[in-house]
Amino acid sequence: MTARLLDGRALAARIEQDVRAEVDTFAAMCGRAPRLVVVLVGDLAASGSYVKSKAAAAARVGIDSEVLRVPETCQTPDLVALVAAIARDEHGPADGILVQLPLPAHIDQVAVLDAVPPDRDVDGFHPQNAGLLSQGRPRFIPCTAAGVQRMLIDAGIPTAGRHAVVVGRSDIVGKPLALLLSARPPSGATADAAGCDATVTICHSRSADLAAITRQADILVAAVGRAGLITEEMVKPGAAVIDVGINRVQGRLVGDVAFAEVSRVAGWISPVPGGVGPLTVAMLLSNTLLAAELRLGRP
Ligand code: NAD
Repeated sequence: MTARLLDGRALAARIEQDVRAEVDTFAAMCGRAPRLVVVLVGDLAASGSYVKSKAAAAARVGIDSEVLRVPETCQTPDLVALVAAIARDEHGPADGILVQLPLPAHIDQVAVLDAVPPDRDVDGFHPQNAGLLSQGRPRFIPCTAAGVQRMLIDAGIPTAGRHAVVVGRSDIVGKPLALLLSARPPSGATADAAGCDATVTICHSRSADLAAITRQADILVAAVGRAGLITEEMVKPGAAVIDVGINRVQGRLVGDVAFAEVSRVAGWISPVPGGVGPLTVAMLLSNTLLAAELRLGRP
């Protein structure tokens, strides 16, 4: 078998078209475009390039954005104060506020993320948004998890009653994705059209015999950050394999999945780059539009 490719770039472009149309309607009604303010601390090359691609995508769909750069040497209270000032619109209207991670090790990341008002929290990391998601009434869903679910729905990959194995238990990817896939469908939607009703197993660094668990997966998501972790013999024939990982190996970007060999056994596979990454950005745009609509009213 040769796996079908899950093209994240093409899907993200379609999502952007839809967001662009809604942004135009919003701007016509509210007299201004939705606006996103991003805080970038330090000069980590990867973070700089993620922020650049988020700002470029925002511009493509007509969302205004501003990046506030803060030196690496800043302290937690400075950052908390900056986020509070942004929330008071002191840096222009801030419908969505995003603090690019990771923060330097000396910063209290939880304190900074908790300072983002939950109704502007377009990354979906605030405990209130995490709580709403866990109760099955999501507001802002973490972008990467939302992107993976969207990818499954768009490809018509059934989820209802299927076994999804999520490798990685972070608050950013693994946990919210497990909640999304195992949720009840919203009223009126079928489970597969909503990408939910799956039976979900979460694996992590202390899981025993990872391969024995991943081999049971109809849907296998790797969100670890270790190149080549998922090999051919860890994948059930025909499974959908979604690779969230981003690793730099000898200057090249690769995922957590050994792409060439797993492509021989999987039914579907997402590439790195060009898979989940563009969808993460597309979902951020969608969350920013939602934040503006929650604030100023839905057109
Ligand atoms: P994290 O470091 O917070 O979490 C990694 C998880 O992997 C942990 O839960 C850990 O228990 C688990 N793990 C570590 N070693 C393992 C092993 N040998 N076997 C099984 N599980 C193991 O990372 P994160 O923020 O969740 O990100 C995970 C990866 O996804 C990273 O490569 C990150 O760069 C990437 N990422 C990509 C996007 C995107 O848009 N494509 C977005 C966010 C994160």
